Amino acid sequence: MHIFHIATELAPIAKVGGLSDVLYGLSKELVRQGHKVEILIPKYDSIDYSQLKHLKVEMREVPCIEGTHQIQNTVWSAELDGLRVLLLEPHHPHYYFNRGKIYGCGDDIERFTYFCKAALEYLIKAKAQPDILHLHDWPTALVAPLCKEVYEPLGLKPEGIVLTIHNLEYQSKCLPQQLIRIGLHGDTPEMREKLEDLIVKGTINLLKGGIEYADFVTTVSPAYEKEIKTPHGGSGLDTILLKYETKLKGILNGIDEAFWDPEKDPLLVRRYKTRGLHSLDQLQDVHEGKKENRNHVRMHFGLKEENSPLVCSVTRLSQQKGPELILYALNRSVKKGGQFVLLGSDHGSKTEQDFLALHGLEQKVGICIDRDEALAHLIFAAADMIVIPSYYEPCGLTQMIALRYGTVPLVRRTGGLADTIFDVDTATVPEELRNGFNFDFYDTGGIDWALDRAFACWANDRKKWEMIMFNGMQQDFTWKNPTAAYLEIYTSLTQKKAKVA
Ligand code: ADP
Repeated sequence: MHIFHIATELAPIAKVGGLSDVLYGLSKELVRQGHKVEILIPKYDSIDYSQLKHLKVEMREVPCIEGTHQIQNTVWSAELDGLRVLLLEPHHPHYYFNRGKIYGCGDDIERFTYFCKAALEYLIKAKAQPDILHLHDWPTALVAPLCKEVYEPLGLKPEGIVLTIHNLEYQSKCLPQQLIRIGLHGDTPEMREKLEDLIVKGTINLLKGGIEYADFVTTVSPAYEKEIKTPHGGSGLDTILLKYETKLKGILNGIDEAFWDPEKDPLLVRRYKTRGLHSLDQLQDVHEGKKENRNHVRMHFGLKEENSPLVCSVTRLSQQKGPELILYALNRSVKKGGQFVLLGSDHGSKTEQDFLALHGLEQKVGICIDRDEALAHLIFAAADMIVIPSYYEPCGLTQMIALRYGTVPLVRRTGGLADTIFDVDTATVPEELRNGFNFDFYDTGGIDWALDRAFACWANDRKKWEMIMFNGMQQDFTWKNPTAAYLEIYTSLTQKKAKVA
């Protein structure tokens, strides 16, 4: 099968969040299973080009009309760990993708709607006929209506268009003129209705348009799928998602098992084996490995060497992630005699200064406000616990990564966190699944409930603590099962099309 992803992130070369990891992990597994996969992203100036091999021009002069101007684009190809990557470079007077960052420009809607159109122009010019076009979140959702309304009549006929919602909160609304600019005129009332926002009449909702036009919509965990069909979790699109629930499915993300493997991770100070263990007696290497990484992280942040649990948070500091509750967990951990390190990205977030003010506190707190892949790996290996109190969490990868590195997650039971972390004290959950601590309410009481139990267990019940670590390390969060679920959808779409034909 030929799967063509159109996306705006790809780990590790253009990474903002979990979407990039999904592109990388899912594509690698599809390729491993013998499928043809291509991933098209914008050619950002911020791409880490050192990780790409065989970078070359694939096609020059791909024209794309924007308003009254014809813009030329160059499409580059390269290889990333066996993946075929295509990079679209517009020769645009506004330097759409030379901004030193991926998102957060005042003209993001123009940048990414243009990208959607140019991507389709490339496919037409290349005479490509992928079986599946797979789109990701609002920045590429518009490909679905554009393809069906404008490019299918020109000969581009994928067997199915799949849209994955990684985060429903970001939908992007704009005026109809912004679509007319790239050739989507909303000619019929039906088309206008599909693209129109449900709340602000006369406004376009890009994600909603994608949902309406896609042949199948996935989201990134079964629990999140349920949540987004309710008024509380639906961010205004719950009625649409309910309407289309037969073409909606929650598929839990995986993590790339080679990239996140403490036994082979080149970014660790000391590597250790966490998979394929048969009993708690085999944890010696894990303890020693974690200890050496912990000493290194303590040195890095200037923390005391002491026999106390190291709690961590590796996160974007956006509101979704509960920064106030992370701050509370930091203070509470120190009060209880522990240490805390935060690796938080998103400069300029509200809590950034509050965190920085605590850096160095009693030689027990380390704060780094940055996106730092190497430090993230070290912290996952070093920490005893990770705190993830998200207000909502479509899937979440950090809890799965933490499990793999023998770090115990303390999470709020929402979205993908609820699908992956099972409380050690819940008798109804089979013992081998219990891998962390949960709390239900988004408040400080929830943090207390999880942290108090975790600290008590760490200090007083080592066997139970080791069982939690052991269970987490043995669980399978690889891309094998999710890939099978995606393939089932791809296949059903190709068969459906064959029947119709
Ligand atoms: P989201 O996509 O909402 O940010 P996820 O948990 O799905 O959250 O994915 C986060 C990914 O980004 C993980 O791979 C995590 O290791 C990484 N990450 C988050 N914050 C940082 C940071 N400050 N530095 C490096 N990596 C980070």
